[in-house]
Amino acid sequence: MSADSFDAIVLGAGAAGMMCAATAGARGKRVLLVDHADEPGKKILISGGGRCNFTNIHTAADRYLSSNPHFAKSALGRYTPQDFIALVDRHGIAWHEKTLGQLFCDGSARQIVAMLVGECEKAGVTIRLGHPASAIEHGDGQFRVTINGRDYAAPALALATGGPSIPKLGATTFAYDMARRFGLSIVHPRPALVPLTLGPEDALFRSLSGVSADVEVRGRKTRFREAALFTHRGLSGPAMLQISSYWEHRTPISVDFLPDAEPDWLLEQKRMQPRTSFRRTLSALLPARLAEALAEQLGLEGELANLPDKALRAAQMRLAGWSFAPTGTEGFAKAEVTAGGISVAELSSRTMMATRVPGLYAIGEAVDVTGWLGGYNFQWAWASGVAAGQAI
Ligand SMILES: Cc1cc2nc3c(=O)[nH]c(=O)nc-3n(C[C@H](O)[C@H](O)[C@H](O)COP(=O)(O)OP(=O)(O)OC[C@H]3O[C@@H](n4cnc5c(N)ncnc54)[C@H](O)[C@@H]3O)c2cc1C
Repeated sequence: MSADSFDAIVLGAGAAGMMCAATAGARGKRVLLVDHADEPGKKILISGGGRCNFTNIHTAADRYLSSNPHFAKSALGRYTPQDFIALVDRHGIAWHEKTLGQLFCDGSARQIVAMLVGECEKAGVTIRLGHPASAIEHGDGQFRVTINGRDYAAPALALATGGPSIPKLGATTFAYDMARRFGLSIVHPRPALVPLTLGPEDALFRSLSGVSADVEVRGRKTRFREAALFTHRGLSGPAMLQISSYWEHRTPISVDFLPDAEPDWLLEQKRMQPRTSFRRTLSALLPARLAEALAEQLGLEGELANLPDKALRAAQMRLAGWSFAPTGTEGFAKAEVTAGGISVAELSSRTMMATRVPGLYAIGEAVDVTGWLGGYNFQWAWASGVAAGQAI
């Protein structure tokens, strides 16, 4: 059967797919962009609380997890946050820096989707929404894809269907299934930027649902200074989402509840305000409910004057390195991203093409490159999309 022919077929009209299609189209390539969802960029629309944290000005490869920590350098170095900011500015989208280099739209994430769709249209990209790609075949240097009963062919195929996080938004393992079919290996996918769950022994902390505090959380390899939020299931908030990407089952995490306090702060308080209760003292630096729970766990009640220095020293040490043993995570249903994915060992870091399957590209979250919270994942989607779009 004859097929409509293109220079490239991009599967997945999310962040990476739209960027790739627009880039290739702008170079004069005839591109077909396909998504099973009825509208493009659904994750962009809900991102950043509806304002899309579209990049981070501190983007650097060491803020990404990957089996090969050097892999992301090439694409990130050739398409930088400044390049994306210039695109956003050309479209007249107002933005602001919120915190820690995170850039958000002043208005709505819809503006970012409209910008990307506009770039695709300007570049002459053909967009087909609402139908999955089926029956993907490869032979004679051509990839053949059937969409809604119609056949399309191209010498290049880009897998941009993301990872399995948040299935209710249409996320699938399609990219992994395709990659495996073409002989690429998959680094075990796991939920990342995801709330951690606590067991019954931490019921007291779970009862603090809604309480947040500025903490430093430490895992085996890294540490983050951000807000932590207690939930009825365990631990969330930026600090915990960040550490979750590095967390390994059955390992503890350590939380410093007093990251700004001098090491002998409690003793100092005892000297200066001996009649203040331990609980009240803690609540000067922590939310009252958290201070109460920590005092209860430490078993320290009453005025500082009546508490031995040794007990206060020990308490401060525990508060600076409180150990939690998460029982698990809230899984892909609640994970902002998926860590792991298509192995970078078999991809060119310059073009994102599979070294053993000429014409096959993998970009965005589908690939084993996962950013920190704060705009890093979109920057990877843009940069890897551009890298492939320039090579197709
Ligand atoms: C709630 C939430 C908030 C987030 N906020 C931010 C943020 O503010 N900043 C940030 O940097 N990152 C954020 N992220 C992460 C970010 O959304 C992703 O890293 C990014 O969207 C990945 O881009 P992608 O193009 O690889 O995949 P996606 O954007 O997920 O796009 C994949 C596309 O493929 C389509 N698809 C899937 N399977 C098939 C199939 N079988 N056939 C056809 N099409 C298919 C999907 O419908 C989708 O349109 C957030 C994620 C979530 C879930």
